[in-house]
Amino acid sequence: MMSFEVDGPKLDSKYELFRKEIQDFVNTNLVSCASNIYKKEEFPVEIIKRLGEKGYLGIPYAKEYGGLGLDYLSYAIAAEEVSRVCASTGLTLCAHTSLGTFPIYRFGNEAQKKKYVTQLASGKILGAFGLTEPNAGSDAAATETTAKQVEGGFILNGTKRFITSAEYAGTVVVAATHDKSLGIKGISCFIVETGFKGYSIGQREHKLGLLASNTVELIFEDCFVPAENLLGKQYNGYKIFMETLDGGRISIGGHALGIAQGAFDVGLEWLKNHPIRSQQASKIIADITTHIYAARLMVYDAAMKKDQNIRVDQEAAMAKLYASEIGTWAAGEVIRLIGYEALTNELAAERFYRDAKLSEIGEGTSEVMRLIIAREMIRKFKDEKADVFRK
Ligand SMILES: Cc1cc2nc3c(=O)[nH]c(=O)nc-3n(C[C@H](O)[C@H](O)[C@H](O)COP(=O)(O)OP(=O)(O)OC[C@H]3O[C@@H](n4cnc5c(N)ncnc54)[C@H](O)[C@@H]3O)c2cc1C
Repeated sequence: MMSFEVDGPKLDSKYELFRKEIQDFVNTNLVSCASNIYKKEEFPVEIIKRLGEKGYLGIPYAKEYGGLGLDYLSYAIAAEEVSRVCASTGLTLCAHTSLGTFPIYRFGNEAQKKKYVTQLASGKILGAFGLTEPNAGSDAAATETTAKQVEGGFILNGTKRFITSAEYAGTVVVAATHDKSLGIKGISCFIVETGFKGYSIGQREHKLGLLASNTVELIFEDCFVPAENLLGKQYNGYKIFMETLDGGRISIGGHALGIAQGAFDVGLEWLKNHPIRSQQASKIIADITTHIYAARLMVYDAAMKKDQNIRVDQEAAMAKLYASEIGTWAAGEVIRLIGYEALTNELAAERFYRDAKLSEIGEGTSEVMRLIIAREMIRKFKDEKADVFRK
């Protein structure tokens, strides 16, 4: 059972109550099967349905659109607590909430929100987000999937890769270019129903980790998307997916933090029955405790700023970078602490170690996070300098 208190900032009691509620859900639904679904690479359809029934697939969205009407901090805590036990389910929760639902909630018109967000946030359907392509990963401006305007809508052609949950999704928000020579200015986003003609699923990926999450290729072959499914303004796709990713990175920070804590939980549990053998073990425990504490402060701070409508490009990038890198490191340290036993799949340490690595890549690699952080620092420095010059 997973419920001991975690070190972190003092939050209002409503957040700790919500954490306890998520822990109860996880203890009932995930603790006993996390290892099994992982070994079988089985997408946990029933558990995702139950998450939806509890409202956890729409935590930060307004009740009038089917959500729970809570905030980003609550959502980050949920991402953390679910991932602490089953990071695959945690990723499914995050990809659905911040990638599949957020862009429609934020940029959709009223009709789109009523039609799609109500179903997504209430968990009736799962959402996905199709940005990455074989030749467009970090550089999303290189998008090659095309959107040709025709009477009544658009025809999409192209391929997307590494798309989370798409095989089980009802909608996918897809980025496509009207004219590749325009770069980022040529891209629009579309809400594609997975039943649209010309849309199909390609190969399923067999990954290093997050084995119970679903990752697939999408294929668009003359896929007609009606004009009313254009999301936001035409040619405004870049802004849509950049803002989507900024918010998404906070939850991936929570997800990575949960992985770090989950790995640490394994180490602490092991220590209950094994003596601390050396000073080295004390160092490992002290360092992991400190880094997890720092990651939690960063993730929660980014979430709280987002809840106050403060721009969070930098905070989200720092939280995601730090939490994902310490996740991989912490899981490795737990393996070092335990020794050989941790390399078998009897203990979840090796599962967390594999899972952690993927969070360094999804929703932007560590290198891209560093580019964003540096860009923001330079921008602020220049702004301040400009102020000095004005005085
Ligand atoms: C678990 C998981 C889930 C995912 N889910 C989705 C999803 O739902 N939807 C979706 O659209 N995508 C998804 N992705 C894809 C993910 O967003 C991409 O993997 C990521 O953007 C990196 O792209 P890439 O893998 O093509 O690597 P590349 O962009 O080809 O990068 C390769 C290497 O080059 C480095 N690099 C690239 N550009 C620069 C630069 N300018 N400066 C310095 N270094 C650079 C990278 O850091 C990396 O080390 C997912 C990925 C993972 C791991």
